[in-house]
Amino acid sequence: MRGRTPTSAPATAGEIFRLVRDGTAATRTEIGRETGLSRTAVAARVDRLLADGLVTEVVGAAATGGRPAARLEFNAAGGTVLAVSVGVSRSKAAVCDLTGAVQAEAVVDLPASVGPHRLLGDAVATLEKLLGDAGAEDAGIRGLGLSIPGTVDDRNGWSVGVPSLPGWERIPLPPLLTERFPVPVRVDNDVNVMALAEHAAHPDVDDLLMVKIGSGVGAGLVSGGALQRGAWGAAGEIGHIPVHDGPGIGCGCGNIDCLEVLASGRALVRDLSVGRPDGDVGSIADVVALVKQGDPDAVRLVRIAGRRLGEVLAAAVNLVNPALVAIGGDLVGAFDPLVAGVREAIYRRSMATATQSLRIEPGLLSGRSGVIGCAILVLDEVLSAAAVDRAVRTAAGRADNTAASRADDTAASPADNTAANRAEGADSAGGAAAGRADTAAGG
Ligand SMILES: [Zn+2]
Repeated sequence: MRGRTPTSAPATAGEIFRLVRDGTAATRTEIGRETGLSRTAVAARVDRLLADGLVTEVVGAAATGGRPAARLEFNAAGGTVLAVSVGVSRSKAAVCDLTGAVQAEAVVDLPASVGPHRLLGDAVATLEKLLGDAGAEDAGIRGLGLSIPGTVDDRNGWSVGVPSLPGWERIPLPPLLTERFPVPVRVDNDVNVMALAEHAAHPDVDDLLMVKIGSGVGAGLVSGGALQRGAWGAAGEIGHIPVHDGPGIGCGCGNIDCLEVLASGRALVRDLSVGRPDGDVGSIADVVALVKQGDPDAVRLVRIAGRRLGEVLAAAVNLVNPALVAIGGDLVGAFDPLVAGVREAIYRRSMATATQSLRIEPGLLSGRSGVIGCAILVLDEVLSAAAVDRAVRTAAGRADNTAASRADDTAASPADNTAANRAEGADSAGGAAAGRADTAAGG
């Protein structure tokens, strides 16, 4: 049961928000029943949520006659979150609503090798433009989610041991963003956030393995409904597992025949270029185009790559028994031969009980799962009960001054000052802004 035990502390506004957001309670009466709070206490907390814009009130028809009960709904438009999904060759930035739906997005056309200062500087400029496009104001920004293609030290918000990101190692990333956007920043691995996005897109699936096959190869695991990062954030790093029948190619990590040097998009570009004119196959998009044209070499090599990917995934399938293996990344455009190879290897190597109902499908969000996942990553934090409690304390301060502000809408009104504090995060009396900035600094 989701109700509260009689011994627990009185429910806060943040906890009531959670009940409304997950659909447990939609009216003040239902909230009272769920929480055991008095009608006055419920009303006070709901008013704070309404003032902050996190819930809206809809007066519908009464089911049983009598006075219609006002229904409370989660307000997806009650703010925005920003998303930056860093890739090896290009990145994406987006402005999303409070459900993670993309409102405006753009490519940041720089390779990650330019380093975090330049790349994230460009991402910030892109976000400023996107905020304008989306008609969103700084004051409504509640958080920023960032993903990078490598292992992330969650506590410090920096990358560790990522050969594909030269110049990024142990550089604290949130401060490069909070200077312009003083909101909480969460950083995670690119495939982990894709797993979050695909999990949200498949609400019926609690156990899924997200596999990204692009320049590199990686996986993200959702088990029992929760993203599994592992002890040091390196769960799902399948790219450096060696396969059994490779030709003996050395990998940057020191091993031989790692999955990534044999079955990644980069490996396929290398293998397909052999015997062809220079520049004929220069990118993963070229590989995908050849597969779509039915080029026999391209189809054969992608199928072999799929088999090698399947060899590694078979062990994962036996270990964690996912209901769904979702495949994303640039090579997903060559899904048919790729997944044929994956299926072949998984069905040969995994237990029948683990594979009989196993779905292996392209991700539902394809090109957007990165930014949507970044949004969901930070929404999990900024819409938590504790964060909402911090936010409504500021909104309550604003509400106290609303009447004055309405009567005399000048720049010097206390309400405007509160809003300014929230946007700048500069004033420690600015409640939520200060709390958000603290969280940002803590990664
Ligand atoms: Zn390796």
